[in-house]
Amino acid sequence: MAHIVVLGAGLGGTIMAYEMKDKLGRGDQITVVNLGSTYSFVPSNPWVAVGWREPEDISVDLAEVLGRRGIALRPEGARRVHPHENRVELNDGSMLDYDYLVIATGPDLAFDEIEGLGPSGHTQSICALDHAVKARTAFDAFKRQPGPIVVGAAAGASCFGPAYEFVFLLDTALRNAKLRDQVPMTFVTPEPYIGHLGLDGVGDTKSLLESAMRERHIKWITNARVVSAAATEVTAEEVNEDGTVKQRHVLASRYTMILPAFRGVEAVRGIEGLTNPRGFILVDKHQRNAAFPNIFGIGVCVAIPPVGKTPLAVGVPKTGFMIESMVTATAANIAALLKGEAPRAVATWNAVCLADFGDEGIAFVAQPQIPPRNVNWSSQGKWVHAAKIGFEKYFLHKVRRGKSETFYENLALDVLGIKKLKDIQVETVE
Ligand SMILES: Cc1cc2nc3c(=O)[nH]c(=O)nc-3n(C[C@H](O)[C@H](O)[C@H](O)COP(=O)(O)OP(=O)(O)OC[C@H]3O[C@@H](n4cnc5c(N)ncnc54)[C@H](O)[C@@H]3O)c2cc1C
Repeated sequence: MAHIVVLGAGLGGTIMAYEMKDKLGRGDQITVVNLGSTYSFVPSNPWVAVGWREPEDISVDLAEVLGRRGIALRPEGARRVHPHENRVELNDGSMLDYDYLVIATGPDLAFDEIEGLGPSGHTQSICALDHAVKARTAFDAFKRQPGPIVVGAAAGASCFGPAYEFVFLLDTALRNAKLRDQVPMTFVTPEPYIGHLGLDGVGDTKSLLESAMRERHIKWITNARVVSAAATEVTAEEVNEDGTVKQRHVLASRYTMILPAFRGVEAVRGIEGLTNPRGFILVDKHQRNAAFPNIFGIGVCVAIPPVGKTPLAVGVPKTGFMIESMVTATAANIAALLKGEAPRAVATWNAVCLADFGDEGIAFVAQPQIPPRNVNWSSQGKWVHAAKIGFEKYFLHKVRRGKSETFYENLALDVLGIKKLKDIQVETVE
């Protein structure tokens, strides 16, 4: 009889619990530890911020759905993982023992690394649902008194798609409100070029995104490090190839959204052998930690090295499909270990992303993430907006049903030739 604990019930942790549950024997138990008992679909946060979704549209009560599936929920959250003792200390001081631990805690948002950054400073965020709600209140106020907008990402960020998505959504929302002519917009990013996305570009993302920005009158500054944010301005340093400062920009802004750098959550940060210096979970190709082989990591909390050298730190994004592939591999590997077999499943970590502009969008598939690639595809069109709505509906349906996968998902992904596990491993885990 084994006890599996999943730490974090976001996009990765929730389906991890479902997929693991399907693979466990009768006596085995599974417990999900989360901060609170509500799941919310992070990719829809930008829509909440422009008023196109209500928080309840994208939220699911986990107590009900996990209970239905026989999965225990501890909504207190974790204070500290104690890997030498195989236990997790919860925020109420109680301890939870585990045989296997899957860490899926997503990112800790490092707003504190830049003066004035974040919802308790002078900039908005779309990284969490409560931030998106606040960003929407600020956007409603902004529309009554429009002015310049600055959107972008901090150096060290590893999630650029949502920053592009948000600047285009603001553009669409302002055009709909007939206010766009009063709003100069600037995109500020540490990427060496527009469309790098932490992946050294995918297909033609450079041209597609540059062209979309030109068409929509959005200016940009690349190789830029945001150094501070104040109520009415953002200061950024544009750097040369060698990292020295080329130009200091003080940008007027009445509405600012900067994605922060990510780091691992406090509950795991600084644990020798488990995390890297930023607090991300170190895993091997089986999603397993080498120092603590009964610990696995999935999702944004996993350490992935950058694709190449850039003047400023630009992290690799961990997108939904990539996370799902980590989940499938982890469930297969823990199931193998429970049967006394070696873990064999290897996630593909393919990057599949839909960046919605509100009326159209850009999609890309990078397979594998690091170039040269077998699939290096990007495309633009109205279908991307529809596909993103489909992704939201499908994923929320999956979480509400307590099912990790449906026939339609397999069908659609197979048609596209996209797989979650590397071919060589599929036979060994199915
Ligand atoms: C704004 C935004 C938009 C995005 N849009 C897309 C998109 O369109 N498509 C796409 O493929 N990807 C998108 N992503 C990337 C990625 O898919 C999401 O970030 C996704 O939510 C990451 O899943 P996760 O499970 O790793 O982390 P999360 O979904 O963030 O979940 C982490 C969970 O861990 C919990 N937790 C944290 N600390 C603790 C603790 N100490 N104890 C217990 N629980 C804890 C949190 O409460 C949370 O429930 C987006 C990311 C962002 C930020």
